[in-house]
Amino acid sequence: MGTTKRRVTKKKAAKKAPAKARKPRPPKPPPPSDRFRPEVWGVGPAAVLGMGRSGLAAARLLAKKGFRVLLSDERPHKELRAAAAKLPERVQWEGGGHSDRVLKCRFAVKSPGIPSKAPVLEKLKAAGIPVFSELEIALAFMPPVEVVAVTGTNGKTTTATLTAAVFKAARRRVHLLGNVGEAVCGAVGSVKKGDVLVLETSSYQLEDSRRFAPDAAAILNLTPDHLDHHGGMAEYTAAKAKVFRFMERRTACVFNADDPGVVSMARDCRPRKLFFGRSPATMTAAWPEGGKILLRLPGWKKPVKVAPPKLPGEHNLQNAMASALLAVSRGVKPEAVAKAFKAFKGVEHRLEECGTRKGLRCVNDSKATNVDSTLVALATMPEDKSVLLVLGGRPKPGGFAGLRAAVSRKVKAVLTIGEAAARVEADLQGAAHVFPCETLAQAVKVAFQLGQKGETLLLSPACASFDQFTDYEHRGRVFKELLDEHGGRPK
Ligand code: ADP
Repeated sequence: MGTTKRRVTKKKAAKKAPAKARKPRPPKPPPPSDRFRPEVWGVGPAAVLGMGRSGLAAARLLAKKGFRVLLSDERPHKELRAAAAKLPERVQWEGGGHSDRVLKCRFAVKSPGIPSKAPVLEKLKAAGIPVFSELEIALAFMPPVEVVAVTGTNGKTTTATLTAAVFKAARRRVHLLGNVGEAVCGAVGSVKKGDVLVLETSSYQLEDSRRFAPDAAAILNLTPDHLDHHGGMAEYTAAKAKVFRFMERRTACVFNADDPGVVSMARDCRPRKLFFGRSPATMTAAWPEGGKILLRLPGWKKPVKVAPPKLPGEHNLQNAMASALLAVSRGVKPEAVAKAFKAFKGVEHRLEECGTRKGLRCVNDSKATNVDSTLVALATMPEDKSVLLVLGGRPKPGGFAGLRAAVSRKVKAVLTIGEAAARVEADLQGAAHVFPCETLAQAVKVAFQLGQKGETLLLSPACASFDQFTDYEHRGRVFKELLDEHGGRPK
């Protein structure tokens, strides 16, 4: 990530600094001694905690680089055996809990899903063994690359995918990694000097990182989520704020000007701040006007207009503005932004248009796993009670009363599925007709019986999928198969 070049720029910036009194600055980041430097650690051994996607990728990478590795997981042996069978020889593994063998390792790598208060982490801390994130291990083995990070409660995958498309349109070699696509450690072998990494970084990954310093970052929004993992809203916010904590001053961080939580986070940001928002306030660098997105970076004489991607909803306009700012802040020309936006078709399972079948517009929003996401989906629908909404699955805390107002304005019928069915019915009683369907297959069948020409069948379940499906992607794929079965060919 071009450290030498940065140091020079920093010196120059210091010389140019005006003499006038300044506002107190946010605290300086600590010295770089806690960055993961492979040469310091000999051949390990390294403990990798968690045998999920990122843990397995980290173990493989470290083994390839000559480290001895102990891969350790709490799940029972029998659940891990299949994954363990494919591991290289240098990797030993243990299941059924983290044994004290972990404490004989020189450093540890934590998988994002392990809670930060897990006893094994306390033990490592007490033993003075440093813990690194999978993300930082990966970056330490890469040649200098440009790192673009996207975080926020909602919209990360869409924004990261769109941002990768924009860099691609600017003829850059791009890798879309992190939560979306491959684990970062898995990509190390294919990354070349000067490539762009677009990373979808969750609060879990950021919380674990020690000195992650992307070249551009965006914080899309901030609503309570994963609070059980982080321990509270303050901890969740602090984890997200780590995305810019170590960024160089000359780099830029993109913020949502219409989200009060994000705006207050921006106060502690040292790098350049670029805001996107509904209206062109003095500080705003991207805003919508006359059906276009206007971009104006500091120093530009006038704003540049770009047509947004053809995606529904204001939320997607926000995602697009964030992508555009990330790219132009790295020198991508607005023409490349426009080209990528024109070609972008959205991401599967996020308000994905599945064609008109038997007169019904069909939309797959299986990724909507909470009430907030379903509200976002309903916000894109007309006000004429023409939506047949499939709701349910494994419920999240809080119930469904938050949907009442939108449902009563827009929804003709609610079709319930899965474990949450009774709660949905109780919470939405009187807001719309509720049809208990139990399964997605039954819900789709009923929708085609009830639906009239011009109405919309929307799967936006506001629940997790694990009661009836492997994950939300499985649920979305099954929905599309059912559409083919009951609704015929799309028009
Ligand atoms: P993430 O990766 O953060 O989960 P996705 O891009 O997969 O985000 O979108 C998940 C859901 O979040 C979408 O189906 C949509 O309902 C909602 N969403 C997307 N972008 C935004 C946004 N900018 N603001 C609020 N909600 C959004």
